[in-house]
This record gives sequence, structure tokens and C-alpha cells, in this order.
Amino acid sequence: MALISCYECCKEVSDRATVCPHCGAPKLRIEKNSIGMIFVFDEKGNEIYRKHKDGGECWYNDKGVIIHKRTPDCMESWENENGSVIHEKLPNGIEKWFDNNGRVIHEKKTDGTEKWYK
Ligand SMILES: [Zn+2]
Repeated sequence: MALISCYECCKEVSDRATVCPHCGAPKLRIEKNSIGMIFVFDEKGNEIYRKHKDGGECWYNDKGVIIHKRTPDCMESWENENGSVIHEKLPNGIEKWFDNNGRVIHEKKTDGTEKWYK
């Protein structure tokens, strides 16, 4: 059994569960390859989630573009369809949001304080 992240709520789910116990999202088709990578496909056969052997994870939109990534050291980033990072969460818990030019527009520190930039 392996743990993967739910494609809807990102919480940990057994790859054998038929629905996500956290948000109820139905489990879609799952495949594993010989080197231990896990793939999840939607009902149309589009890949929507992938977990690499090193623990890194990627989520895809319905056009096959990566929209969310999590590295093995728990750095998370969300991207728009142009591949620009719009939100990132660092392993230390700091979160940042970016505009389309890559400038920080909003920052959240680990103590909960938030800051908005013009
Ligand atoms: Zn879920």
C-alpha cells in the first residue's frame, strides 16, 4: 500500500481507498509503474496526478498542464496555465502569492502575520 495525495483536497489517501475519506472525491483510475511511480487518471483518461518515486507530486489540469507541485522536501507551488508560479509554500511554512509578472503581492509568515504589497 502507498499513500498518495488526494487530487481534490491534497490530503493523504491510501492508493487502495475507493473514495477519499477526507473530501469524498471518488477514486479514479490509478496506475503504478515498475519504478514505483503512481499515476491517477480521470474518467476521460487524462492524467490528473502523478507521484514520483522520490515523493515529489504533480497535479495537472484538464489540458495536461501542471498546476500544482510538491517536492519531496514539502515545498509547494501552484502555477497558472502559462507556467508562472502564482502561489508558493516553503518548507518553513511561509507562503507567497505572485502577480503575472512574478512580483510578490501577498505574503504570509509562519506566525500568521500577513502582508500585502502594491
Ligand atoms: Zn480528498
